[in-house]
Amino acid sequence: MVYCNNVANIATQFNVTKMHLENFSAEDLLRKANLKVTKWRKVLLQKIISSPNGLSYSDLSQSTEFEGHRVTLYRALIDLEEAGLIEKLRDASGTIIYMLITSESKSHKLHPHFSCRMCNYVICLTDINLPSVVLPAGYTKEQVICLVYGLCDKCNATIA
Ligand SMILES: [Zn+2]
Ligand SMILES: [Zn+2]
Repeated sequence: MVYCNNVANIATQFNVTKMHLENFSAEDLLRKANLKVTKWRKVLLQKIISSPNGLSYSDLSQSTEFEGHRVTLYRALIDLEEAGLIEKLRDASGTIIYMLITSESKSHKLHPHFSCRMCNYVICLTDINLPSVVLPAGYTKEQVICLVYGLCDKCNATIA
């Protein structure tokens, strides 16, 4: 894993990308991904669409819709992930969260993320390229994960 350092000084150079998820319907996305539209896939995808900053497995399993349906939830998550609709990321607390892949975010593996250490809010930093990493001879790169930890604007305002 590669972690970004000294990013605070470049923080003013980019605009935070706000995703317009309200334009997506779960049913459309399932169809486009060639997935059969089932009740649970639809419910799950709709929840992830309406949570642009990600949802953890416990957020989902404790929700009213999925209470008592853990296996169904687990399977639906795998289906959506395999179909390229959602992706797993880690927030500042190390918790795995599920985020929708949109035309703006593309793959979340292609850009860094910011996660607030107080509220775990996650945003995509799509304007920043991941650092190019030169590895020693004989090593191959598979993935670069760049997570910027800090405080979001709301948390900064509460401690000011
Ligand atoms: Zn925060
Ligand atoms: Zn992202």
